[in-house]
Amino acid sequence: MFANNENLYIKKDPGHNFPINIYNRTLQDKIICLDPGHGGKDRYNKGYSGLYVEADGVLDIALKLRHALLDTGAKIILTRDKDMTLSLAERCHIAEKAQADIFISIHTDACGDPAVRGATAFYSLNPLKESKKLAHSIIEEYTLITGEPNRGARFRWNSRKTDDYYGVLRGTNMPAVIMECGFHTNSLNEARLLMPEYRLIVAHGLKLGIMRYFRK
Ligand SMILES: [Zn+2]
Repeated sequence: MFANNENLYIKKDPGHNFPINIYNRTLQDKIICLDPGHGGKDRYNKGYSGLYVEADGVLDIALKLRHALLDTGAKIILTRDKDMTLSLAERCHIAEKAQADIFISIHTDACGDPAVRGATAFYSLNPLKESKKLAHSIIEEYTLITGEPNRGARFRWNSRKTDDYYGVLRGTNMPAVIMECGFHTNSLNEARLLMPEYRLIVAHGLKLGIMRYFRK
C-alpha cells in the first residue's frame, strides 16, 4: 500500500537529522554559495551571556542548510566548512569562481541595546533587482518559520554613498544577500541560537526562502 510512495525514500542524516526527499529536484541546475561569516582569527562576536560565538553558530547553520538543500539537487558551495580565517576577498572569489547563481552570507546580529531583536536581510546593489527579490524571499519565509520579528529587506550604503557597505556584497556580481539571523546580543535569541534544534529551524527558513526565490 506504500508502493511508489515517496515517504519510503525519506532518509535521515545522522549528523543533522534533516529529512531528505529524493524526489525534490527543483533546483537541479542551480549553484548556491553559502558563506558562514567570520571564523578562525575572527571569533570575537559573542552572545549576551558569552556562550554563543557567532563564527561557530553561523557555520553550523550553513552546514545544516547545505544538508537541507541536498534534496533540491542544487550544487552547494561553502566558503568555509570548518573554523578557519577567510578574508572578504577570498569569500567573494570562491563565489565568483564557482559561478554561483546566488550568494548568501550568514550572520547573526549585534546591538548595544540587548532588547533589540529580529532578522534582517541586506541586499546587494549589483544586481539590485534580483538581490532585492532574493532578500525579500528569504526574510519572508525566514520570519514565518522562526517567528522572529521582521526587520525587513534593506540596503546599506558605504559612507560615501557610492557602493555597498558590506565587502562581500561589493565583491560579488551575482544576486547576493547578507542574512542576519536574529540578534545574539538579545538573551532570548542567544538562548535559541545555542540550541541545535533552533539552528535547524533557521536553516529550514533559509531553505524555503531560497526555494521561493527560484520559483519565479
Ligand atoms: Zn557577522
